[in-house]
Amino acid sequence: MRTLVVDHPLVASKLTTLRDVRTDSPTFRRLADELVTLLAYEATREVRVEERAVTTPVAEARGVRLAKPVPLVVPVLRAGLGMLEGMVRLLPTAEVGFLGMVRDEGSLAATTYATRLPADLDQREVFVLDPMLATGGTLAAAVQLLVDRGASTVTAICLLAAPEGVARMEAAFPSDDPVPVRVVTAAVDERLDSVGYIVPGLGDAGDRLYGTAD
Ligand code: URA
Repeated sequence: MRTLVVDHPLVASKLTTLRDVRTDSPTFRRLADELVTLLAYEATREVRVEERAVTTPVAEARGVRLAKPVPLVVPVLRAGLGMLEGMVRLLPTAEVGFLGMVRDEGSLAATTYATRLPADLDQREVFVLDPMLATGGTLAAAVQLLVDRGASTVTAICLLAAPEGVARMEAAFPSDDPVPVRVVTAAVDERLDSVGYIVPGLGDAGDRLYGTAD
């Protein structure tokens, strides 16, 4: 597993406002959306393309387009939904699947309650959207499910990560695995607290995006 921490002043300043306890939900949603687009730009750096010719007003030119099959974007419900628009803005032809996963707040174990994915992910470059890489339980389970269905690469885009989550992903997906797995994030914070929140973090991403409805 490779981790890319995107080092860019716009990423850092948007993340700072997301962290701020005074940032309201509408502003949080807008900034999360903008931050995802910036992270997506880095996360798609190795996306597969094929050559194509194009006629400009002046001459013939050689260019590229996304190769088939097109990438698959998979938000992990609920909080990953807040990242979807920011991602497909950059990859408008991508297909979108959904994974519903919930973390038991006592054991912190992840269970899957919904999947809407193509049955066969052969040759698919998959981008998973999950804002908070905390213990890594949810993300590791999501990535394993996608690898088991045949994904050719899996890139997780996370607004924030904890060292514990990064370590768990590295242990689950060694760098010499046949399926390359990457995590792209705006920052790796200090640690997790006793109830699994990232410190200093930004709080509960789902609640800050959507309120506290269960
Ligand atoms: N999930 C969140 O939303 N926030 C955290 O800090 C950890 C997990």
